[in-house]
Amino acid sequence: MFRSPPSRSCAPLLLAAVLLLAACQKEVEIPAPDPEPTPTADNARGDNMALGNPSGAIANVVAANNYLIVHPQFTAGYDNSRGQARWVSWHLSAAWKGSAERCDCFEPDPLLPASFYAVSTFAYSGTGFDRGHLCPSDDRDASDADNAATFLLTNIAPQAPDMNQDTWFQLEAFARDLVADGYEIYTMAGGYGNGGTNAQGVLTTHLAGGAIAVPARYWKVLVIIPDDSNDLERITTEGARVIAVDMPNSASATAQPWYAYRTTVDAVEQSTGLDLLNALPTAVQEALEEEEDAGVVW
Ligand code: MN
Ligand code: MN
Repeated sequence: MFRSPPSRSCAPLLLAAVLLLAACQKEVEIPAPDPEPTPTADNARGDNMALGNPSGAIANVVAANNYLIVHPQFTAGYDNSRGQARWVSWHLSAAWKGSAERCDCFEPDPLLPASFYAVSTFAYSGTGFDRGHLCPSDDRDASDADNAATFLLTNIAPQAPDMNQDTWFQLEAFARDLVADGYEIYTMAGGYGNGGTNAQGVLTTHLAGGAIAVPARYWKVLVIIPDDSNDLERITTEGARVIAVDMPNSASATAQPWYAYRTTVDAVEQSTGLDLLNALPTAVQEALEEEEDAGVVW
């Protein structure tokens, strides 16, 4: 992966940026994985929220629309007014992978305060939307408990079936292929806006009588590094590959492959109001966020 030489086409574009022209593109050559990495606690399972808390979510019931949920398997900033997370953040490496079977055990999240709207799996029945995972089931199959956690409904949001099962899935599979090749990945994902298209082609803004928003679009940001320890120190412009995507919550998404939806982290931040990667040093964060990935995609 990432064999192409680095080509940074945007260094001289500071002036052009003022004109809001097309985003800079970057083809990254990051270090190849160590064929025999030293096992350490860090490269086993990284902190799901190591790259920051994009909305400053807190685990206090008064923050109903920005409520922090921390499971061992993923972290979320939950918005009770939308019946779903604004963002879910998780780490993926070989240490999270195994052979547990997909449990299909959708359940309300026990960490949701009793005063919040309790999304039930029935809320999705007959809507023409999938119960779309943000942290994928297949990213958490080292144990039955790990896999079951991905079916907590705080990790689920309504996705257009074709988009979920094709375009969104292909990006998930790409990420797992990288992990199989010796990389580890920090990922954040969520939906924003209102109005997705269901399996019958009907534009839908809400489910469950208004309790669950149907996002108009889904975004995802992946930060990819060779599997090793001291992750945060290695996330630099030369050490990490960052892929951001933003795609419509509609079967129309399948008209193009996932990589056609690549954009910049800055653009995702503008659309969502989140501050992604905010645990990184400011200069690193700014450099990684302004460039659109143009690297090899499979
Ligand atoms: Mn690591
Ligand atoms: Mn940021």
